[in-house]
Amino acid sequence: MSQRSLVWFKRDLRLRDHAPLATAAQADAAAAIYLIEPDWLASPEGSSAHVAFALEGLAQLRRALAARGLPLLVEVGEACSVFERLRARFPFDELLSHEETGSGWSYRRDQVVAAWCRRHSVAWTEFPQTGAVRGLRSRDGWARRWQARMDAPQVPSPTGFRGEACLEPQDLPDLARLGLEPHGKQLQMAGEATAEATLASFLAHRGHDYLKSISSPLRAERGGSRLSPYLAFGMLSMRQVHQATVAAIATREDTGVRRALRGFAGRLRWHCHFVQKLESQPSLEFRNLARATDGLREGEFDRARFEAWCAGATGYPMVDACMRSLRATGWLNFRMRAMLVSFAAYHLWLHWREPGLFLARQFLDYEAGIHWSQMQMQSGTTGINTLRMYSPTKQARDHDPDGRFIRRWVPELARVPLPLLAEPWRMEPSQQRAAGCVIGRDYPAPLVEEKAALTHARDRLYAARRDPLARREADAIQARHGSRRSGLPPTTRRHRTSVPSPQADLFE
Ligand SMILES: Cc1cc2nc3c(=O)[nH]c(=O)nc-3n(C[C@H](O)[C@H](O)[C@H](O)COP(=O)(O)OP(=O)(O)OC[C@H]3O[C@@H](n4cnc5c(N)ncnc54)[C@H](O)[C@@H]3O)c2cc1C
Repeated sequence: MSQRSLVWFKRDLRLRDHAPLATAAQADAAAAIYLIEPDWLASPEGSSAHVAFALEGLAQLRRALAARGLPLLVEVGEACSVFERLRARFPFDELLSHEETGSGWSYRRDQVVAAWCRRHSVAWTEFPQTGAVRGLRSRDGWARRWQARMDAPQVPSPTGFRGEACLEPQDLPDLARLGLEPHGKQLQMAGEATAEATLASFLAHRGHDYLKSISSPLRAERGGSRLSPYLAFGMLSMRQVHQATVAAIATREDTGVRRALRGFAGRLRWHCHFVQKLESQPSLEFRNLARATDGLREGEFDRARFEAWCAGATGYPMVDACMRSLRATGWLNFRMRAMLVSFAAYHLWLHWREPGLFLARQFLDYEAGIHWSQMQMQSGTTGINTLRMYSPTKQARDHDPDGRFIRRWVPELARVPLPLLAEPWRMEPSQQRAAGCVIGRDYPAPLVEEKAALTHARDRLYAARRDPLARREADAIQARHGSRRSGLPPTTRRHRTSVPSPQADLFE
């Protein structure tokens, strides 16, 4: 019997190391589809920037696939209705995709598609594409499995397909046709070729000072890999990045460069470690991981504070500069993301869900597993991580010592003297006038008083944690989600200091 295969592109917009494509290349007839789903467009974490990035990547992918004889359809619609319509023209009996560990709407959609496939006798094969393991029973030995997946040979890119000639792809829609507003951000360029060039430049030179660069929002712009949107949209495979990094480490003589790249390699494992949490417990997108923290913030959401935080108008210059920079570019380095969330969670005492949705819309690299795990971790609701309360003033001093970042993004403060730049409310009235920045008129007074706010947050969270039931719950969370140091290969163990566990006390 002839085999008719449909490749369903999801968050894997590439040719390289793509198991569904390689499988479809063996079929008697093949087609490929990408769905722009109404649930995605309407989801509270989705944004037109995400859609624009996907469309740019799709335009390139479509050309590359067409050159190999495979038409890539891009259809707007709900998955099962589109598949139903498509089957009338192309009666596929096999659906091929990668596994997706996404937001709640995609989780529910996959369940519906699985039922549809069963009803229509379509065999749906989902291939893993990261180190996250579906149906994982225990975290023991997870790192070893991750290593085995990442070291396995990449899937060769097919050179040709027996494409289905009757399928004529229509023009790609644009944002306006999808009813979306322009995003107004200066985004990284999309596409597999750009992603590969970004990886190459990072390994060849940009990443040589990686560990010293990543804490500063300015230095990380160049010294961080900037691969996150490409990984989130699958324009690169995790295995490809891992293997290129291992190869680069092997050829470098300089021990500092090797240490830097090993630090980066460790982050790739973190990526999958966090995705695994959501894969194992999809509810963490919506509910506190530690139920002992339920009720602490839920009834007290202060919308005015939230809106000031979103607008970059909290009166804390480092927080505001980070927020404004993120809103303009769709990217921010890890430490400053953590500071933004810590400020929302502890200083402003906001529940993590709404700030998390807002940030998800801003981050071009929105990856549900990392995002929601980090939102909870930085808000103190995981039950297992040390509470990290970032002081925006200290972060400014440590990571923007000459004030360039703050002055770039908060121009109201351009003439504030450097010693007072992170705390402009300390300026005397005469200094405010001289700097052209009257607090409360040209730039907001601090939204909250830091010391009192943090004391309140600490008291309430530690009280919740002291409960014996909370401790028992924390042990269970650690057993289910905590990283294990065992199971790493000798090279990683030997260099453990530069590849710390994401659960360790990394930051202040
Ligand atoms: C509240 C919060 C939300 C976040 N949301 C996301 C998200 O939605 N998507 C996302 O990709 N990253 C997220 N991160 C993690 C991190 O901030 C970004 O991965 C990083 O800033 C991306 O820049 P880069 O690619 O230059 O990172 P690099 O430092 O070059 O890291 C390389 C890759 O490793 C992974 N990585 C790096 N740091 C982490 C980390 N702490 N945890 C897990 N994986 C990591 C990412 O895939 C990243 O692209 C979040 C962090 C916080 C604190």
